[in-house]
Amino acid sequence: MKKNQKIAVKTPLVELDGDEMTRIMWQIVKELLILPYLDIELDYHDLHVKRRDDTNDQVTVDAARAIMRYGVGVKCATITPTEERVREYSLKEQWKSPNGTIRALLDGTVFRAPIFAKNIRPFVTSWKRPIIIGRHAYGDVYSNAELPIPGAGRAEIVFTPEDGGPVLRNTIHDFAGPGIIQGIHNTDASIAGFAKACFTYALDRKVDLWFSAKDTISKTYDARFRAIFDAEFSTHWRERFAAAGIEYFFTLIDDAAARIVRSEGGILWALKNYDGDVMSDMIAAANGSLAMMTSVLVSPRGYFEYEAAHGTVQRHYYQHLAGKETSTNSMALIFAWTGGLRKRGELDGTPEVAAFADQVEAAALETVEAGIMTGDLLAVATPAPHNRKVATRAFIEAVAARLEEKRR
Ligand code: NAP
Ligand code: MG
Repeated sequence: MKKNQKIAVKTPLVELDGDEMTRIMWQIVKELLILPYLDIELDYHDLHVKRRDDTNDQVTVDAARAIMRYGVGVKCATITPTEERVREYSLKEQWKSPNGTIRALLDGTVFRAPIFAKNIRPFVTSWKRPIIIGRHAYGDVYSNAELPIPGAGRAEIVFTPEDGGPVLRNTIHDFAGPGIIQGIHNTDASIAGFAKACFTYALDRKVDLWFSAKDTISKTYDARFRAIFDAEFSTHWRERFAAAGIEYFFTLIDDAAARIVRSEGGILWALKNYDGDVMSDMIAAANGSLAMMTSVLVSPRGYFEYEAAHGTVQRHYYQHLAGKETSTNSMALIFAWTGGLRKRGELDGTPEVAAFADQVEAAALETVEAGIMTGDLLAVATPAPHNRKVATRAFIEAVAARLEEKRR
């Protein structure tokens, strides 16, 4: 096949558009790096916050269903409405986080891996290889039930079995005055899916797997996570891990946090939902920029959703609206597209699509390594005389120029 011919993508790719600065970059990436090279059908869903409001958030549910139909989605960052956002966009209500809604429908695990460029070194100098975070994307505090306690009284957790068996209850606290309570849950099926996704991903990337929780304090809840991981490992993975020369081990979350800092990296660190939320931002910042962190939701039912780990970059968007030049980093958005395309190619058996994704990533990395970068990276890059800061669009144009050379 001639290189200047468009590459055919067999199955539609589900596209979830988003908000603010990322929406602007998303469009440029698509226009310069994707559409000129691919003959592709994009199943487009506009998750702009106004559009979510207009459809009473039905558009988010439809997008998740489309991912379940086609298997692979790519998502731009979206605003999670707060009271301020409700005023800013005159929203009917404070809609839930789209990512929360999509995760609840697809279930699954979010893996976040930093993008390593030769001239962007992690702040933690011992890290030689990426630290990948595997975040359980279901339950716990993200789907909690909370109550403000107005005054003295007993708070309990109660379980009423469907089959009429004995009611289970436990006292949370005997309140003497006002306070707060929270109920959280998880399911064995979701935890097992999480464990399976982590073992699969670790073996695929040939990295050690660490799982950490706090089972010394949470003797039923966290202990169940640990037991399910242990059972999954001994039943299905012990031999395969040994053959691949990789390890699985469990350790307490605080011990793991301390060990990670002294490690060389090359680890998949599996974490419960909240721990993963926090630790992934810490790992991202330690790698130089939030804009160098990719994210993929892997569902146990075989669905994949790729996105950047960062948000909509609101501060830059307001600068843009004020007519000022911005220098916002599109690396993680580019890698969301390439991650989705590579997976699409894998599932469709079209290696040329996966190879194109590799080319786009190489073009993006070579651009940064040649010293052409956005402001966030210039601040953390290994100093070099040829380093220069470029504007948002100019960076993507520089990547496009390199890609064009590769495709000639
Ligand atoms: P953010 O968009 O991640 O940005 C926080 C700060 O990180 C920015 O102000 C900027 O720092 C830096 N940054 C992030 N991405 C960058 C990029 N690509 N290039 C250069 N700098 C980058 O977080 P936020 O401002 O707290 O949240 C904004 C909105 O995003 C919120 O409405 C939130 O709900 C939403 N959000 C969405 C997702 C998602 O859809 N996955 C995730 C998180 C947040 P400087 O200002 O110092 O330059
Ligand atoms: Mg977070």
